[in-house]
Amino acid sequence: MKYLDQIDVSGKKVLVRVDFNVPMDKSGNVTDNTRVKASLATINFIREKGARVIVTSHLGRPKGKRVEEFSLKPVAPILARMLNIDVPFIDDCIGEKAEKAVDAMKAGDVILLENLRFHPGEDKNDEAFAQELAKLCDVYVNDAFAVSHRAAASNTAITKFVPVCAAGFLLKNEIEYFNKAMGNPTRPLIAIIGGAKVSDKIKVLENVIDKVDRLIVGGGMAFTFLKAQGFNVGTSLCETEMLDLARKIMDKAKAKNVQFLLPVDTVIAQEPSADAERNIVAIKDIPEGWMGLDIGPATIAVFSEAVKTAKTIVWNGPLGMFELAPFSAGTFKLVDAVVASGALTIVGGGDTDTAIHKTGLSDKISYISTGGGAFLELLEGKTLPAVAALG
Ligand code: AMP
Repeated sequence: MKYLDQIDVSGKKVLVRVDFNVPMDKSGNVTDNTRVKASLATINFIREKGARVIVTSHLGRPKGKRVEEFSLKPVAPILARMLNIDVPFIDDCIGEKAEKAVDAMKAGDVILLENLRFHPGEDKNDEAFAQELAKLCDVYVNDAFAVSHRAAASNTAITKFVPVCAAGFLLKNEIEYFNKAMGNPTRPLIAIIGGAKVSDKIKVLENVIDKVDRLIVGGGMAFTFLKAQGFNVGTSLCETEMLDLARKIMDKAKAKNVQFLLPVDTVIAQEPSADAERNIVAIKDIPEGWMGLDIGPATIAVFSEAVKTAKTIVWNGPLGMFELAPFSAGTFKLVDAVVASGALTIVGGGDTDTAIHKTGLSDKISYISTGGGAFLELLEGKTLPAVAALG
């Protein structure tokens, strides 16, 4: 696979697949432009080589039809402001309109095409649609990590029809950081896995156990493991159909000499509500009718101590119901501990990302992945189809 800085784009027509799947309010205003910002390094690099930049993305799930609320039109002025140039918006991503717009471009120009998903061929990874896109360019650059776990025409089939293909800088960062953490890590390597359900992350757990020196499990999913160890977990989240698998994972950890850390105490309530009465109890003392909604102070101390010596940390999933302030301390305190460890830290998965932003410590984390599902699939040990297509 080639990266953008390893190919010659001078004077070329370059189609860049970005992720401009930005959040919008009901009136169609973009409420967070982080994703637009994340594309600037790649777009500017190509412009500076005197190339023409044809920017293309999806937005929402219009399911193969034109749906006005999913138009990328509001993103064009945002990109224009950030680049300090005009960015014409073209209201289709293929066909005569798009071709004419590309013909009219000059060196260094940028245009934004309409939502790829207005065409049914996009999500079907359709070759005819990919060929239409390919017609617009002589170089293809993929910078949309967040959708690289789903083969689509604009990230997979298109690579068959464009002679030169490369990964942009955002995709490069994602791949390089992930490989640094999970491929050839400086040890000890510690994974922190939290979140709601074991069933969602079973493949992640099975894969990371083969790679890490220490595994910390928190969040709702910890209670399935604790139940498997024989504890009563009250009304805490618990997947009884996962108990055997939980035991298998813990046995595997033991066999591989991987330290497996579970909560020793928990913040309990009778309902998941910010104003519910709370208590802190040891795991063995969870009363009937109460649920664990965060790790307790003794667990925070154990987990913080466990990350202190880490050289590399991979983190997915919050350690408690952090959206509610009374149950956020565990996740937030662990962010402090992770930052204090000075380890190379990679964080991924939508909720973990949100939790870290809330602490204001995002810039102290080595890398926060821009992809939820794609990051999880990497953690599961899978090859992402759109990345494989560039190889
Ligand atoms: P996931 O998408 O699997 O990473 O799960 C994230 C969600 O897990 C967040 O919305 C948290 O509120 C929730 N969560 C974390 N810990 C707990 C817990 N102890 N009980 C219930 N939900 C939890």
